[in-house]
Amino acid sequence: MRALIVSDIHSNLEALEAVIADAQGRGGFDVIWCLGDSVGYGPDPAACLDLLQSFPLVSVAGNHDRAALDLRESADFNSAAAYSANWTARQLPEGHRGFLAGLPEVATAGAFTLVHGSLRAPLREYLLNEEAAASTFGRLTTSYCLVGHSHLPFLCLENRDGPRFVQFSENEAFALDERRLIANAGSVGQPRDYDPRPSYAIYVREDPESSGFLERHRVEYARAATQEKMRTAGLPRSLIDRLDHGV
Ligand code: ZN
Repeated sequence: MRALIVSDIHSNLEALEAVIADAQGRGGFDVIWCLGDSVGYGPDPAACLDLLQSFPLVSVAGNHDRAALDLRESADFNSAAAYSANWTARQLPEGHRGFLAGLPEVATAGAFTLVHGSLRAPLREYLLNEEAAASTFGRLTTSYCLVGHSHLPFLCLENRDGPRFVQFSENEAFALDERRLIANAGSVGQPRDYDPRPSYAIYVREDPESSGFLERHRVEYARAATQEKMRTAGLPRSLIDRLDHGV
């Protein structure tokens, strides 16, 4: 069993294609687990949803997915994000809107619970500190939890003395065990950890006796092509520029 874990694709088709190709080159995957925010910010919302749906897929909703359906959900967005939510809403055919509308806030897949932000506030909370992690562990009914939203990769282990954040190192298998854990694979389409390369993870469980392992990877992509499409679409300059810096 191999799952490709992606989050915060943000309508960046070139980034998603590069991630899928990289994962296929590393042994492939049986299913995509998506942590939400597939649309918003970028130039290819419909094409990203089409590509995701061409694979077996378990996906939860992100706040940008909801904002593309109902602009009231973008009330707390900055002006560039609100502009892109409005632009995205106008690009999405009815069928794609129906797909987004059907996404749940929380989903489970085997030993994993999937949620965009946190189990306390699925669409809103940035899970970035021990208190937020403890709150999600308190609500978690499976062994492991996958989140997105902050665009920052991390692992958070549930130790006896409380949650502890550790690096989710690149190109290193992290063996899962009986300890519960929250993982963020980083963002495919708009990384914010000062590295512009799309970040993703793969979950591998080949031996049913073991809990399997997670590994995280980064990949180069045709960033200039994405940025050129954004210019043509008239999307805000700040959203184009930030892709160069991973912020
Ligand atoms: Zn996002």
